[in-house]
Amino acid sequence: MSDNCIFCKIVAGAIPSRKVYEDEDILAFHDVNPWAPVHFLMVPKRHIPSMAQVGPEHAALLGRMLTLAPQLALQEGCRPYPEGGFRIVTNTGAEGGQEVHHLHVHVMGGPRPWARG
Ligand code: AMP
Ligand code: ZN
Repeated sequence: MSDNCIFCKIVAGAIPSRKVYEDEDILAFHDVNPWAPVHFLMVPKRHIPSMAQVGPEHAALLGRMLTLAPQLALQEGCRPYPEGGFRIVTNTGAEGGQEVHHLHVHVMGGPRPWARG
């Protein structure tokens, strides 16, 4: 847990979230400011600031997050590929548009137009 990290606080239950999925290592919850009809975030429970800090020791965790994303996207209402689908985004650093410095994967989908993206 990193001090003053909003996503660490969500993982700890100190800040409420609308949960999509949880296991020992991963939490997924709805984005409070959705860009799309379906928009949730997937985070590792352990604090990693961004993709800039990942190494070989995170390969299994990141692999699990990415392979889980399509399953959760369907569960949350994205239509199946190819008519439906989803967008996966990970902003990294200031120039990458990252605002919350706890690694997270945005999963967005649903009928267009979207609010953004
Ligand atoms: P990023 O710009 O990639 O760092 O995205 C951070 C995302 O976190 C934004 O889409 C925010 O809407 C979202 N967010 C911030 N605070 C919360 C919160 N308390 N619960 C859910 N999503 C949040
Ligand atoms: Zn954190």
